[in-house]
Amino acid sequence: MPPYTSDYLTSLLAPADDALTSYQARAAAAGLPDIAVSPDVGRLLFLFTRLATASRPGLVVEVGTLGGYSATWIARALPTTGRLITLELDERHADFAQSQLRRAGLAERVSIRRGPALATLPALLRELGPASVDLFFIDALKAEYPDYWRLGRPLLRPGGLFIADNALGSDWWITDPPGSSRNRDAVAGLNASVAADPTLDTSIITNRQGLLVARVRTPAELAD
Ligand code: SAH
Ligand code: MG
Repeated sequence: MPPYTSDYLTSLLAPADDALTSYQARAAAAGLPDIAVSPDVGRLLFLFTRLATASRPGLVVEVGTLGGYSATWIARALPTTGRLITLELDERHADFAQSQLRRAGLAERVSIRRGPALATLPALLRELGPASVDLFFIDALKAEYPDYWRLGRPLLRPGGLFIADNALGSDWWITDPPGSSRNRDAVAGLNASVAADPTLDTSIITNRQGLLVARVRTPAELAD
């Protein structure tokens, strides 16, 4: 997206919430990488969480917590009965995120599961059961995106949403030649398989580095 457009969005949609506005400076001081989603993407995660959890208890799974910035946006949008389970490999990131969520008053709505997502996701499926999750958001290792989706897909209920950050780029861009980056190829592969899946309705939002958004069709929609 052209830089002036992203500046406009960031100033228009900047959060008023202290736990969010002060995040970047605190995370940088703690030595966390500056790779959290932008405020406008945070707003989209908030909006999609509202849509996916409306009139439901509310259950969201995130892969890749970092310091809890996107988790703060998601958890703020949950109904009071709602829960976010967020997966993080790095202990230092998980510790920072725990204090971030406490500061935001969200600690009891969010559980951080430490460890590699490829091990945690199968455990979550056994624990939560299939078709139990309203929204599944991935933002960890790009090379593992196809595996996160394979392991996370059974968790999603009919009508549930799948969102992948960096659907268009990171330190590569999606239009780079195939073979130029393993991460680009993994994400391009995920985008293609989700876009071609007849059980899903899919698009990509171009804010920041792109968000893949797909909704699982309900039985009635599949019969249409
Ligand atoms: N969603 C966050 C940013 C996540 S950055 C936000 O927008 O605020 C990606 C995170 O994924 C990093 O914290 C990294 O430590 C974590 N990660 C990397 N490999 C992982 C793995 N195998 N399992 C779980 N988390 C992983
Ligand atoms: Mg990302």
